Parts: sequence; structure tokens; C-alpha cells
Amino acid sequence: MSKLYALFGGTFDPIHFGHLRPVEALAQQVGLKKVTLLPNNVPPHRPQPEASARQRVEMLRCAIATRPLFDIDTRELERDTPSWTVATLEALRAERGAEQPLGFIIGQDSLLTLAKWHRWQDLLSLCHLLVCQRPGYATQMETSEMQQWLDAHRAQHAEQLHHAPAGRIWLADTPLFDISATEIRQRRHLGQSCTDLLPDAIIDYIDRAGLYRG
Ligand code: ATP
Repeated sequence: MSKLYALFGGTFDPIHFGHLRPVEALAQQVGLKKVTLLPNNVPPHRPQPEASARQRVEMLRCAIATRPLFDIDTRELERDTPSWTVATLEALRAERGAEQPLGFIIGQDSLLTLAKWHRWQDLLSLCHLLVCQRPGYATQMETSEMQQWLDAHRAQHAEQLHHAPAGRIWLADTPLFDISATEIRQRRHLGQSCTDLLPDAIIDYIDRAGLYRG
């Protein structure tokens, strides 16, 4: 069986240390050699990003220039339909074959709202869910049905992620970063510093592009 490979979807408006550092820790923990950043096209349940698709990709490029763990897949930006994760995973599964162990990385906040995702019940037939901790969010699911679903699929050992192509949920023990893109955009609009929240190369890009101003 080939190596576990993972995708990390997000709006990335902009990408920040709360994305990068937990995922780097997760990669070490479960033995991920590559993580593909998957910028969303206008997620249906969220307001439009402030940065354009091109700018969000440029910021990802700034982030990965010094981080070889990551690469970028822009396929969701190339469609003008909503970014259904399940559809992207189906396409990847078709490309990579039925045996490839595939992970999809989310934060704890996304796990809590997973039941709102399009065809969420199909996700575990396509991938493992790799969940990073996020401060300020409950560790228990909201309903007993969702908690039972989580308990039934939870992996106890990282090896389980390598020995099956899909079907497990890994609750990773990752460092906590109380950072959101919303806070970064707000701070920028107020003219406040963000140096502790995201890499300098991205701040330079934001300055040059005149993003999140006024
Ligand atoms: P916004 O504030 O604009 O809603 P965000 O900071 O939550 O954005 P997204 O691009 O929406 O970032 O998040 C992409 C993924 O990263 C989601 O699965 C989310 O749960 C996860 N994530 C975002 N910030 C953190 C964080 N600080 N710690 C752990 N996971 C995070």
C-alpha cells in the first residue's frame, strides 16, 4: 500500500500559523510526507473571501516557499461551482486508486459542524479525517448520534491510517493556536500588527497587495 497522503482544505483568507503549525505537528505524529493545501472556491455556508482567489493562492505560495511539507492544488478554484469536499475527494480517489490511504485535515471547529457538510456521511468511505485541535471549541460532539459516530470510527493508533485507504477519524494531539483569519483581517483593518499570527512573507505580500485595508 502506498504512503498516507493528506489534503487540507480552507478559505485561507489568509493562511496563518493556526493552519500551518498544527498541521506540521500532525504530519510528524502520523508520518505524513506531503500535505496538499486545497483553497476553497466560495464555500456555500460562508461569506465571500476578501482576497481574490489569485491572491489567496499567492499567499499559500509565500507560506510553502520555506515549508517543503506542503504543496497546492487549485482544482476547486478552477470550477465555478461550490467546493464540495466530497466531490473533490471522489475525483482524487479516482485519480489515485482505491488503495491509496488518503487523509482530509480539518480543525476541531469543522469536526463539530461536519453534519452540515454536503453528503458528510460519504466522507469516511473516501478518506480518513485527521482532526487538529483548536482552542475555544468543545471536544465533545453536539449530539449523542454524532458522538457515537465519532467513537465508532476513531483510530487508536496512527498505523491504522496507513493500513486502510479510508474510514478512520484521528483526533491529533496538536499544539493550540488561538488564531483565526477573521482576527487577522480585523487587526489589519484597524491598522494593528499581526506579526505573531502569520509568516512575515505573507505579511509582506499583504502589504504589497494592499489587502485587508481600511
Ligand atoms: P475565518 O476566520 O475566515 O473563518 P479560519 O481561520 O477559521 O478562517 P479557514 O480557512 O476557514 O480558517 O480554515 C480552514 C481549516 O483550518 C478548517 O478546517 C479549520 O477548522 C482549520 N483551522 C483554522 N484555524 C485553525 C486554528 N487556529 N487551529 C486549528 N485549526 C484551524
